[in-house]
Amino acid sequence: MLEILKNAHIEREVLIQDRTAKEWREIFNSQDFDQEYYYEGNDLGANYSKEKTVFKVWAPIAKEVLLNLFSRGSDEEDDSQHLRTIQMSLSKKGVWIAEVKGDLHGTYYTYTVNANGKVNETGDIYAKACGVNGHRSMVVDLEKTNPEGWEEDKHVLYPLEETQIWEIHIGDFSNDPSSGVKASYRGKYLGFTEDDTTLNNDKIHPTCLNYLKNLAITHVQILPSFDYGSIDESNDNNKFNWGYDPANYNVPEGSYSTDPFKGEIRINEYKQMIAALHKAGISVVMDVVYNHTYSVDSHFNHTVPYYYYRQWEDGSYCDGSACENDTASDRKMFQKYMIESVLYWIKEYHIDGFRFDLMGLHDTETMNLIREAVDNLDFGKDIILYGEPWSATDTNLKEGLIPAKKDAILHLKDRISIFNDDTRDAIKGPFNELEEPGFVNGGENLEEKIERAVLGLIDKKLVDQPRAPYQLINYVSAHDNSTLWDKLVDSVKKNRDYLTKYKDLLAMNKLAAAIVQFSKGIPFMQAGEEAGRTKLGEDNSFCSSRELNQLDWKRMYKFEDLIDYYKGLIKVRKSFKGFHDISENCTSTITILTDLPKKVVAYKIKGSYENSAWQEAIVIFNASKEEIKIQLDECEWKVLVDEKNTSSQGIKSIKEYALVQPISAYVVGR
Ligand code: CA
Repeated sequence: MLEILKNAHIEREVLIQDRTAKEWREIFNSQDFDQEYYYEGNDLGANYSKEKTVFKVWAPIAKEVLLNLFSRGSDEEDDSQHLRTIQMSLSKKGVWIAEVKGDLHGTYYTYTVNANGKVNETGDIYAKACGVNGHRSMVVDLEKTNPEGWEEDKHVLYPLEETQIWEIHIGDFSNDPSSGVKASYRGKYLGFTEDDTTLNNDKIHPTCLNYLKNLAITHVQILPSFDYGSIDESNDNNKFNWGYDPANYNVPEGSYSTDPFKGEIRINEYKQMIAALHKAGISVVMDVVYNHTYSVDSHFNHTVPYYYYRQWEDGSYCDGSACENDTASDRKMFQKYMIESVLYWIKEYHIDGFRFDLMGLHDTETMNLIREAVDNLDFGKDIILYGEPWSATDTNLKEGLIPAKKDAILHLKDRISIFNDDTRDAIKGPFNELEEPGFVNGGENLEEKIERAVLGLIDKKLVDQPRAPYQLINYVSAHDNSTLWDKLVDSVKKNRDYLTKYKDLLAMNKLAAAIVQFSKGIPFMQAGEEAGRTKLGEDNSFCSSRELNQLDWKRMYKFEDLIDYYKGLIKVRKSFKGFHDISENCTSTITILTDLPKKVVAYKIKGSYENSAWQEAIVIFNASKEEIKIQLDECEWKVLVDEKNTSSQGIKSIKEYALVQPISAYVVGR
């Protein structure tokens, strides 16, 4: 232990000395540091009013902090001028303050921080606006960024049981020229705002928002849309990235705006995107990546060296994110930062939900505090929160804290859900062995896993199981790994022909979708899964071309029958509460049917619900290559789903037995 930590009082003189990473780790992890330097206020950043702006930055180990003001976001722009530099003064808890008179809207700024033997010029980690590429922050009058009618824009919220999530990258949505979206809007926030687009303007086949309006999904989950570092915003060079490399957490990414140089424009256009989705009745989930940043050469490290990143005992950075810079949710100022950031996106941008990347790198305490803070908002309980309950490799959480991983499911509060990779892999095969099949594509001995999926359970090796199925996000495709279609080609055909619309693969695709819809949990899909989306076998397209990544709207309509099938499944799920009641108070009962042939899983579900067309249903998943016959109770049943059709009113009536085609789902109700 460091000598200074034995005194229970950390003098400022101690903090302004140059130290090793290992020493800083000990200091920052100590309770004494928290006690003396944790800042409770929520006014860090540039506090704007028309009369003055008050700048506040938390930099407890700095010897000196200067505030620099500029006319533009970078030196390369016309009339870029350094306006002035102001000495900031140290206030309580390590907060430096400067007050500047006048209306500073549109003024760019940086801090020059002298700490731990280095002088760094840095953007503000609390910035709400920034210049091109996010190097300089910008003072912003947020009211000026509101699009017309923004006051009327309200959160669109759905009960968890109705939730259907569709995951999309902003560029992928409209980059395809055949999307019918205006060229200057393609791949941008504004690509979401045209609501009458059609395939090559044929006036027949809806695309983009016009398509989404009728897809029956409730939520879009948008891949990273905060400012990230991997794309040069100053040059529209056709580069593509998913954006899992945060630079400014509280500012929209510039490359999706029509003008990344003017800080207020990306904010305005982001809000236009949200308003357009809301107007179409769609909730917006933001994909947040608080677990690491673009690099350690960040505003965080330039402001308080080492504080915001988690370290091993020797002071080296943890790499649980596989990006060599895990952030430290277990340090109080970053924990608070995460909570405030989430609340900011909800309040300022009307975001309706959050998906936490590598949530397993955060601790359950932080996740639960976020849930609590969100719940405290008027409508907060309907804001959906979920995340990936894993990390890439090990990290080094502070002792006593629990990582928010799958086995900690009961340590997570209600309504923090996790991606259910057990069900995913059982249905279509392991994500990392491309040729290895799952239940629908020829895998053996997976019946029990599918039964667990149906019941809303996870891996049986885990002692703690979900307290209710709403803790599970069920899916068979996401941006990571192969698309569902590519996985089917690789595991069944093994010929790398991703373009042919194979009939047997189509049947497997439909069966996979039916298992997701008729298992307990919240259904989720990658955009285009409903239309045979392919990335030509590429299973990690994070920086592949725009063309490979984008939704191919022409191909989408070659799979129109599949799209209709997905829509139909969603409607059938909605038509009977037994299917979509995922609460802990669920009153329906599921009985798994026994004595079935191999590769067949079936269940009966009963529930008594008022005003429900159905009180009982039987769901059959036949993954075998044989037609099967299932005996039914003697009465009339309506067929809701078969190998081709879906209908929430019933396709036809049957009695005595159900004949289920090879590789298909079959659902009857009465
Ligand atoms: Ca950026």
